[in-house]
Amino acid sequence: MPSLLLCSGNPGKLVELRALLPREIDVLSLADVGLASDLPENGGTLLANALEKARFAFAHAGLPCLADDTGLEVDALSGRPGVRSARYAGEAKDPYANMELLLRELERADDRSARFRTVLALVTADGEHTFEGIVEGEIAKAPSGKGGFGYDPVFRPKGFTTTFAEMDAATKNSIGHRGRAMRSFLEFLTTN
Ligand code: IMP
Repeated sequence: MPSLLLCSGNPGKLVELRALLPREIDVLSLADVGLASDLPENGGTLLANALEKARFAFAHAGLPCLADDTGLEVDALSGRPGVRSARYAGEAKDPYANMELLLRELERADDRSARFRTVLALVTADGEHTFEGIVEGEIAKAPSGKGGFGYDPVFRPKGFTTTFAEMDAATKNSIGHRGRAMRSFLEFLTTN
């Protein structure tokens, strides 16, 4: 694969995706091919949204395109916010408002279990492939830590006493949803 277009305008995601890719891959951004950072995502599932973004970028650039759609699924909320994670508290996609609403909705919940799920979609001239990564954990009672992005300050992965935002980037990538999905994508690349 000579080059790979990363179909995301989210700076936090881009940092993680780039760190997970081997150096030999020439990574391009949406800006490099003249695309705006907000690609269309109108699907009802992470899979549909990841495919929609990668297909849109591929139609424009004609290069191998990799898109990431991620959701936080909270058991006490029957899987919400899920595919609506970015706009949970409104169209502004404000991570602080999203976390505040989440903590409010869970105020009386005994079960705080949750998971992050990432779906990566690869669209190339040879076809389409998708890869999934999940990390189980729980929602903390209050935000903690300054690292990461999005819901990281309130997500504590299973087996850890710290939130993603309290971990260094390498640890989050080694145990997290995005790292898992990326490793399955990289395995696919080596066998194809
Ligand atoms: P989307 O995949 O860009 O639609 O992101 C969905 C929502 O989940 C956004 O609010 C992101 O900030 C958030 N999000 C995506 N990935 C992560 C992550 O790795 N940690 C914390 N929040 C995330």
